[in-house]
Amino acid sequence: MSPAYDPENIFAKILKGDIPSHAVHEDEDTYAFMDVMPQAPGHVLVIPKTPSRNLLDADPAVLVKLIPVVQKIASATKEAFEADGIFIAQFNEAAAGQTVFHLHFHIVPRQQGTDLKP
Ligand code: 5GP
Repeated sequence: MSPAYDPENIFAKILKGDIPSHAVHEDEDTYAFMDVMPQAPGHVLVIPKTPSRNLLDADPAVLVKLIPVVQKIASATKEAFEADGIFIAQFNEAAAGQTVFHLHFHIVPRQQGTDLKP
């Protein structure tokens, strides 16, 4: 079983305004902001405002609101960064590469023939 949601995680602090972030979108249910260590220029993170550790414990009703925002930000980012494609990633638990335990989607513009940073 996964550990409980930690209300002091970094993204919870960003939502509270305790840690600064560069917002690109905000509505009643969701928040999107620039990743502080981008894998490529234009790397955005999209999160729900409600607490869930990752996709596995997320309320499907939250996902219904979150996924259209992921789509909208992906589309806007592709245009803004004149990207050839968009990489969307989401990790669940440390074993899968998750380091911040508040549900988030990575949106990363990709240019043909370039590699992501490790
Ligand atoms: P994960 O590995 O959990 O899927 O990704 C967490 C992401 O959060 C990483 O890409 C990392 O660069 C980003 N990140 C970690 N701390 C901060 C922070 O304080 N501000 C912002 N904007 N991004 C962060």
